[in-house]
Amino acid sequence: MAGIRVTPEMKQHMKAVAKVLSIDEKLLKDANKTAKSEELFCPGFVVSGQSEGPIGTLSGLSQYIRRCKSVLSSDQWVKEEKVYGAQSVFEEIEKITDVFPFVMCRKIGSSVLGKPLYELTIGEDTAERKVHVNASFHANEWITTSVALKWCKEYCAALCKNKTVFGYSALDIFSRTSLSFVPLVNPDGVDLVLYGCEDLSEKSEFLNELNEYRPDFREWKANINGVDLNKHFPSNWDIEQRRKPKAPSYRDFPGMAPLTEPEAQAMHRLITEQPPDRVIALHTQGQEIYWGYEGYEPEQSAQVIREFEEISGNRYQGVKTIDSHAGFRDWFIQQYGKEGYTVELGKGKNPLPFHQFADIYQATEGILWRSLVF
Ligand SMILES: [Zn+2]
Repeated sequence: MAGIRVTPEMKQHMKAVAKVLSIDEKLLKDANKTAKSEELFCPGFVVSGQSEGPIGTLSGLSQYIRRCKSVLSSDQWVKEEKVYGAQSVFEEIEKITDVFPFVMCRKIGSSVLGKPLYELTIGEDTAERKVHVNASFHANEWITTSVALKWCKEYCAALCKNKTVFGYSALDIFSRTSLSFVPLVNPDGVDLVLYGCEDLSEKSEFLNELNEYRPDFREWKANINGVDLNKHFPSNWDIEQRRKPKAPSYRDFPGMAPLTEPEAQAMHRLITEQPPDRVIALHTQGQEIYWGYEGYEPEQSAQVIREFEEISGNRYQGVKTIDSHAGFRDWFIQQYGKEGYTVELGKGKNPLPFHQFADIYQATEGILWRSLVF
């Protein structure tokens, strides 16, 4: 994370510094909680190459910051519509935590092939509620990662600009709700769908066989071991075991037991360590939101789902019950009796073509904003 070198004295005047940066003082302080005494993190600015010594005056800071690039006014990066593989997610997270230093990042585990799984968190330490959002449990649903990362950047930018979106003040949300965000649950699977298996020489025969020798991996939903990570949680797993494939497959194989796969283990651990109040799992497709599970869901889910429908312009429809078990959300609702929603983005055949992105984003962003409000 790049900060500006300042005198420790400057750090005593955060109110005035916040004014120079045109940013909320509390947000600035939150962004600087890990900064050293001679370092100032400036949310919204790309800071690099400071040649002069530590800055000791507000006018000096003002002059310096005018030379830095602001992502909030001119930069298209926040609004970018982009397809992400594991490497580009990693690079994007680095940039997000650099430009928006109030975003914390930690590694919560690794995929089968050793790719890191990251969780971002956004919100004040004292926030009373916690929401978890994840994307790309299923490999050929990678467009969910694009939606999730764009929305994450929009949220961060709205915080810096003290904006109200869909009637919700971003800073209000920040103080009340902590967001836990895993943008890419299945990096090996997503990379397989996007880039094929040429770099996986020792595994390529296994993968081609599981893929039934199709010319590409567009149909692949599973992780790289051929386990469907979203049929792999301990909530009526045996029902799925009885009726789904009995061996690794490009889709639907629930594993030999629940939670044998490192990606599912990481998600399970993340939730059990500090259970959120609400989870949102992004999938494709169908423009539906599944919200019940075997009667374990709380009463308020019915009300929240109506608001989700409304804020999407009624493009999304809530569906209480489907004949499906052992999903991440199923397990969360059964285990904690709290709200869980699987949002099936877009319509068509997976993988949804990327030209649908703008339309999907427009219909979905309100749901994501509403998900942070209690
Ligand atoms: Zn899915």
